[in-house]
Amino acid sequence: MPTDLDIAIIGAGAAGLMASIFAGRSAASPGALQIAALDGAAKIGAKILVAGGGRCNVTHDVVTPDDFFGGNRNQVTKVLRSFTAENTVAFFEELGVTLKREETGKLFPTTDDAQTVLDALLRAAGEARAELRVGCRVERVDRGGDAFVITTSLGELTARRVVLATGGKSLPKTGSDGHGYTIAQSLGHTVTATTPALVPLVLPKGHWLTTLSGLSLPVELTLSSASGKVLRRDSGPMLLTHFGLSGPVVLDISRHWVAEHASDPACRLTANLLPDDDFNSLDHRLQKSTHSQPRTPVIAVLRRLLPDRLAVLLLARHATIDPALPMAQLSKEDRRALAHALTALPLPVERDRGYLFAEVTAGGVPLSEVDVSTMASRRCPGLFLCGEVLDVDGRIGGYNFQWAWASGRLAGIHAVKSLL
Ligand SMILES: Cc1cc2nc3c(=O)[nH]c(=O)nc-3n(C[C@H](O)[C@H](O)[C@H](O)COP(=O)(O)OP(=O)(O)OC[C@H]3O[C@@H](n4cnc5c(N)ncnc54)[C@H](O)[C@@H]3O)c2cc1C
Repeated sequence: MPTDLDIAIIGAGAAGLMASIFAGRSAASPGALQIAALDGAAKIGAKILVAGGGRCNVTHDVVTPDDFFGGNRNQVTKVLRSFTAENTVAFFEELGVTLKREETGKLFPTTDDAQTVLDALLRAAGEARAELRVGCRVERVDRGGDAFVITTSLGELTARRVVLATGGKSLPKTGSDGHGYTIAQSLGHTVTATTPALVPLVLPKGHWLTTLSGLSLPVELTLSSASGKVLRRDSGPMLLTHFGLSGPVVLDISRHWVAEHASDPACRLTANLLPDDDFNSLDHRLQKSTHSQPRTPVIAVLRRLLPDRLAVLLLARHATIDPALPMAQLSKEDRRALAHALTALPLPVERDRGYLFAEVTAGGVPLSEVDVSTMASRRCPGLFLCGEVLDVDGRIGGYNFQWAWASGRLAGIHAVKSLL
């Protein structure tokens, strides 16, 4: 039966654009196959444009399977090896986008402008003769004989192969609203429960830390179960905001907090505000200060360790110690309470900020339902899956795009190979 398209790629975000480019490049000759990416959004690439604060953190200079969660390590490794961070750098260089490495290891375009990245991808898709259809939301996909029948907001069409690159549920206004999961399920897949990830965390209204909105400081966060078992430690900058907590280290630990909190609501998140110290080393330092600076007020000692506003509020609102108290008069009990507050400050998170503010989605179609050497579905012949619709989510730092580039490329190449 003649079909409208050889390959329909549903979703033209990072993974879908990559699939389009490599499907087009893999065809026997330019335009030999009818390839189109269908995207429900009116404008392509909204998420690429907002990424990295508008600069697009394209990848990271060191990418390992341990930077990802969800899918099985070996399967993630296989996909990442097929297209490494070095390959990403070379690929974008070939498209005319030079990447620079920042101190954190994150790679950004030298233009510091995400538009450069999006423009290059759109140009490459055009050169590969992959068509982009915008404002074309896919409502359903049915298998009819050897082909797929795709019902879209612009009408019905048929395709021999489908690449599902619909992303997750995060930032739904960009077009990824989770409908891709429904499509995957209708084609025989399961979907692991989804939760927001890389998401800011909300403290109780009026919590004293929220009055320090705008303050950023390096911390080590620890997530423990109600029984006290340490489940996860992450270090990096924490940003205090009017609602609670954000910044890289909070976003990184958020998916673990969300998952643990669902089954253990009494789990605890604490911050070591002096990550180079632990309770014992800090208590020892404070004890030394009581001898070496007996007349110095507690607040003066604290101001040397912490940003001023934080030092004042920590004493007043958390430790309830008189800031003017000379160090020599600090009781052992108060000194230990202070050391505890500084190295294990309780962060009584109430909830996460939801998909509207999450950068990615944890959960999705399990990798076990996909052949990771081709990204072909093991449940539905002719279907390929890539990007965030799969149950893989990365740390902050360019890892999620690296997953999208690598898995999208594989899906595009093998969708074509499967036709030859
Ligand atoms: C604010 C923000 C900042 C981020 N910054 C970074 C960063 O700097 N570095 C990094 O690595 N990652 C970053 N991420 C994560 C990264 O953007 C995603 O992991 C990545 O975009 C996932 O790519 P994808 O192609 O799988 O999905 P998406 O980029 O979400 O693309 C999915 C596409 O499918 C379309 N679509 C969905 N459903 C349908 C349908 N039914 N019919 C038709 N089209 C449909 C959508 O319109 C969309 O265009 C950020 C995310 C956010 C929200």
